[in-house]
Amino acid sequence: MCTVRCIIKKKEICMMDKQIIEKTMTNLRERQFDPYFVESKDEVVPLVKSMIKEGSTVASGGSETLRETGVSEMLRESYDVIEPEAGSTPEQVKETMRKRFSADAFLLSANAITYDGRIFQEDGASTRVAPMIYGPDSVIIVAGVNKLVENEAKARQRVKMVACENCRRRGFATPCAEDGVCHDCRVPGRSCCTSVTLNFSRIPNRIKVILVNEDLGI
Ligand code: SF4
Repeated sequence: MCTVRCIIKKKEICMMDKQIIEKTMTNLRERQFDPYFVESKDEVVPLVKSMIKEGSTVASGGSETLRETGVSEMLRESYDVIEPEAGSTPEQVKETMRKRFSADAFLLSANAITYDGRIFQEDGASTRVAPMIYGPDSVIIVAGVNKLVENEAKARQRVKMVACENCRRRGFATPCAEDGVCHDCRVPGRSCCTSVTLNFSRIPNRIKVILVNEDLGI
């Protein structure tokens, strides 16, 4: 059976994969998100730049995908990025994080996107998901096709897999960092404290979703 992953290997869209992507795009659109599809990560930076006016303030949630596509670097070169300066005190960090709610644009990736057009995120301190939900006039989500999943159950599975992998990579003191399995832990270093599902955008097209025909991020 043809799978989304075969797109990455063959660099072409087979019929079933094309149908999955088209179905996802249609469902995202019906939920008042604003979806885009590009073949390669090289197309992401110009597209993102076309979505953000010169002189804008921007902020972003920590994202491997934004780094891999060159978006993080481009934001620092081209816009006024709201982020804590090195050496900031905890109070200064808190103040800066609050300012991100008034950024003109907020960028992040997704943990999972279902074929029926819903977007799943999980977060620790919620500094990534909170401005996504409310505040910035424009939100831009960049995601590789490896984030596409069939349904909500698969999305929740994927989100946990990402959380475990994040803990392992960052050396967190959580049980999943040891064995790669979620234990619904109650330890101070828990990295997945808040689960958010975007089912619909009340403000049409506030949330843009750029789907990239490559495997990106975790
Ligand atoms: S709840 Fe705990 S064990 Fe499960 S993925 Fe999150 S940090 Fe890991």
